[in-house]
Amino acid sequence: MDGTLVQRPDRTAMLAALERLVLAESPSFDKARCDACADQVADLFRQRTGVSALRHRRHDRGDHLEIRIGDGAEPIVLLCHHDTVWPEGTLARLPFQVDGDRVRGPGSYDMKAGIVEAAFALEGSSPKRPVVVLSTSDEEIGSASSRALIEETARQAVAVLVLEPAASGGAIKTARKGIADFILEVEGRAAHAGVEPEKGISAIEELAQQVLALKALGDPAAGTTINVGVIDGGTRPNVVAAHARAEIDVRFTRASEAERVVGAINDLQPKLAGARLRVSGGVDRPPMERSAGTIRLAQLAQRLAGEVGFALTETSTGGGSDGNFTAAIGVATLDGLGPDGGGAHADSEHLLIASWLDRTELLRRLIEAL
Ligand SMILES: [Zn+2]
Repeated sequence: MDGTLVQRPDRTAMLAALERLVLAESPSFDKARCDACADQVADLFRQRTGVSALRHRRHDRGDHLEIRIGDGAEPIVLLCHHDTVWPEGTLARLPFQVDGDRVRGPGSYDMKAGIVEAAFALEGSSPKRPVVVLSTSDEEIGSASSRALIEETARQAVAVLVLEPAASGGAIKTARKGIADFILEVEGRAAHAGVEPEKGISAIEELAQQVLALKALGDPAAGTTINVGVIDGGTRPNVVAAHARAEIDVRFTRASEAERVVGAINDLQPKLAGARLRVSGGVDRPPMERSAGTIRLAQLAQRLAGEVGFALTETSTGGGSDGNFTAAIGVATLDGLGPDGGGAHADSEHLLIASWLDRTELLRRLIEAL
């Protein structure tokens, strides 16, 4: 223990703030709703820190918010997103609910609780450096409209702290897999399946073989997995299929593996004479590798958690976040600083309040220690 008093964040005020954010439903593709939620986020930071958010306007997506506290170089960057995977109206089915130590509600755990945590941690802190909070509106759909802003903001940073939820059980995330997405389109030739099947080239048969070839590119021991998650093709049972397509999700722990698999997918060759393949897609998120800088950050967080009074473990995950971008440009990045809980993207989504309060105090100390 370092003897500093452990501050207890205001549970009631944090829950009220979280309820306001959850009630502002914000599916990523709905600009009007995402913008209305951004208004609530901006209000929250104005109330807690006295600072007005800078709005990065977007035409096709919700606006992104930047809250800059203090001037100078080498800031600490806190990464949040206020969009959710939940369609409008989900609240009617899954209302905001506090039940003992649990809070439920669409987008509560992933990651509106993280936004509230950041605002309350900053309210009570005296950082030695400037702090920049980004709250973006398109993380759940790949961050195409926020990626440049995130990378530009992070480039000068001494550390990036990502307020995505902790892994179930409370571990912070020091490595995340990267993600690549592809669409494979197969073109064959239609023919009558009864009269002259020999004149056809079955796109479905071609695709079936490609699915197995794709699977063989995986290397689970190295952390590389390939999932063909969607296929469709053909028109009728009595027609040799002229078209088929597949949607493919690739995950990898190392940039070198990404290079290998992406190269191989772009190089796929047809197995049936006359069939044609078209591949589109590529890497969406580079992997967040467990760098020396990230290990140092994790060790600092673990020491500070001990002072607050809880044990902080670390883990890696196959899911991506905006931390993938900042880690890939070489900035020490620590992810999963939001609360413990579970059920992200599922009806069982919930967070645990005691962990949320502990982590708010941890985040406050982390911001002061960096
Ligand atoms: Zn998230």
